[in-house]
Amino acid sequence: MAALVISGKELAQDVLGRLKSEVASLTVALGRKPHLAVVLVGEDPASRVYVKTKTAKALSIGMETTDVVIPGSITNESLQAKLAGLSAERNLDGILLQLPLPNGIDELAALRCIDPSLDVDGLHPLNQGLLLRTRNHGDEKREGFKPCTPLGVMALIDRAREELGLSKSLDGLKATVVGRSVLVGKPVAMMLVDRNCTVSLCHSKTLELDKECRQADILVAAVGRPKMIKSSWIKPHSIVIDVGINRTAEGELVGDVDFIEASEVAQAITPVPGGVGPMTIAMLLANTVESARRKV
Ligand code: NDP
Repeated sequence: MAALVISGKELAQDVLGRLKSEVASLTVALGRKPHLAVVLVGEDPASRVYVKTKTAKALSIGMETTDVVIPGSITNESLQAKLAGLSAERNLDGILLQLPLPNGIDELAALRCIDPSLDVDGLHPLNQGLLLRTRNHGDEKREGFKPCTPLGVMALIDRAREELGLSKSLDGLKATVVGRSVLVGKPVAMMLVDRNCTVSLCHSKTLELDKECRQADILVAAVGRPKMIKSSWIKPHSIVIDVGINRTAEGELVGDVDFIEASEVAQAITPVPGGVGPMTIAMLLANTVESARRKV
């Protein structure tokens, strides 16, 4: 039987719809629109497209945005001063520093210059550290901001279970995350642990990766290798979330999972494109709205 396809595009639309009305009431409460600054360093074409999409979505729900475009030749010191300056500006609710940064720019040093209370991408080391301390029931303020792609992954898992008529609880389920990046794999694994899953966090040195995947009730692929995960790696009735975005030689966008094969085995699966991608942006805006809400 073919798996249920979980549309991130539709879920993101639902989230944006809810955010739009919240933005309207926050605009009244704050006396100004919730405001996101988007910082782009250099000329990377993919980053330019991402930044444009993020800004357009923010504007579509009634937020204010400021585009900060910085030449790739900027020095570390100047970029850090720019981010510290933005952080000191009143009337900003979020700062997004588009990654990756050009070669020679110290990413961590730059991220550290963003005020953690404005770090709506959840990548400041303080917010990353807070992720280790929460257990799904901490007080919101102490929780800091969680990174956007992992938040999108969790929302898609919840949506899949809802559409399948399963309980929201993930207690005791086995989850496998393939990929251990700071941006995706590690925080997703942490969030799944917080939801009481037993998690296997895999990477390029993992032995018998296929077996690790086959045990998973929830499989999250964040590798960056086109169609690497085959149907024989997938546990029947599992939920598969494909974070990967890869362009084939033919110019097609595909995920890390062989979607057509996997759909025959999994119970629910996200497509690429139209899965995790739109949710990443929706979660960025949700974090920005949350930041504005904390000021009311
Ligand atoms: P990274 O390159 O930072 O990390 C990739 C991870 O995959 C590493 O941990 C690496 O292991 C692991 N890996 C690589 N090859 C293998 C292999 N053969 N077997 C097992 N593990 C392997 O990538 P990101 O986490 O940043 O991104 C992953 C994918 O997700 C990319 O396609 C990216 O484009 C996409 N992405 C999508 C987003 C969205 O919004 N939809 C947002 C962010 C990323 P090791 O650590 O050992 O090197």
